[in-house]
Amino acid sequence: AESLLLQTQKLELVGQLTAGIAHDFNNLLTIVIGNLDTIRRRVEAGQAEPGRLARPAETALEGARRAAALTQKLLAFARRQPLAPRQLDLNRAVAAMSDVLVRTVGEAVKIETVLGAGLWPAFADPSQVDNAIVNLVVNARDAMPAGGHITIETANSSLDEHYVAQFGDVAPGQYVMLSVSDTGVGIAKDVLPRIFEPFFTTKEVGKGTGLGLAMIHGFVKQSKGHIRIYSEPGQGTAVKIYLPRMTAAAPLATTPASDAPPAGGAPPAKAG
Ligand code: ADP
Repeated sequence: AESLLLQTQKLELVGQLTAGIAHDFNNLLTIVIGNLDTIRRRVEAGQAEPGRLARPAETALEGARRAAALTQKLLAFARRQPLAPRQLDLNRAVAAMSDVLVRTVGEAVKIETVLGAGLWPAFADPSQVDNAIVNLVVNARDAMPAGGHITIETANSSLDEHYVAQFGDVAPGQYVMLSVSDTGVGIAKDVLPRIFEPFFTTKEVGKGTGLGLAMIHGFVKQSKGHIRIYSEPGQGTAVKIYLPRMTAAAPLATTPASDAPPAGGAPPAKAG
């Protein structure tokens, strides 16, 4: 059974988290309400030209989207939804997200993508992969308040026995690597061992939930993948995620419906 102290600590954490999220959520609602109010006043004043409405409408929409993302994040963590892994092209996942990422990091941060040629398909839950990419890029941005560079890289990667013996916790084999690196503040040596803990954050209340890396770590472990962080204080940080290569014996499209996984590979994706 949990000690009373631990229970109390957990309650305290949940309380801090709730306060932080309520604060964030409130800020976003203020943006949405303020901009909708602007639109209404302009319409009432007969200033309903598209040029005078587009901007507040866009800002309100953006605020509402961020509020929705915040709720999603919390719900995802609370539910720990079962994963729905399937064949996935990481290069396409990164490319599909690039516009959103550029907007997320702002003008002071430059994003470079280095997409591996002939990249193996991965076997993972696409929405969790998207979530991981966004979270890693947001962390990288937050580590560079004065601007800097983010590099998003994909590559085929074989983890051999030597690697596994040294860094453990994963089976030797073929993986598809996704790396997000930044030129930011880096992570202090005493902080590094804690960053996967749920609710651990060094960001001010209302800014960080401490759930990003905890969710990513959980997702990667559940996917039978591997995650490593390289960081040098004052230099920057690189987070590398290794997802298993999709190795179904038969092409997905022609795999007959069956609960039995094909020999020697990951199970094919289930419908839905
Ligand atoms: P949050 O971003 O809400 O704080 P995370 O779990 O994503 O939660 O990150 C936990 C902590 O790890 C951060 O508060 C920060 O101290 C550290 N961290 C994560 N990514 C980076 C990075 N790219 N550079 C520096 N520190 C980082």
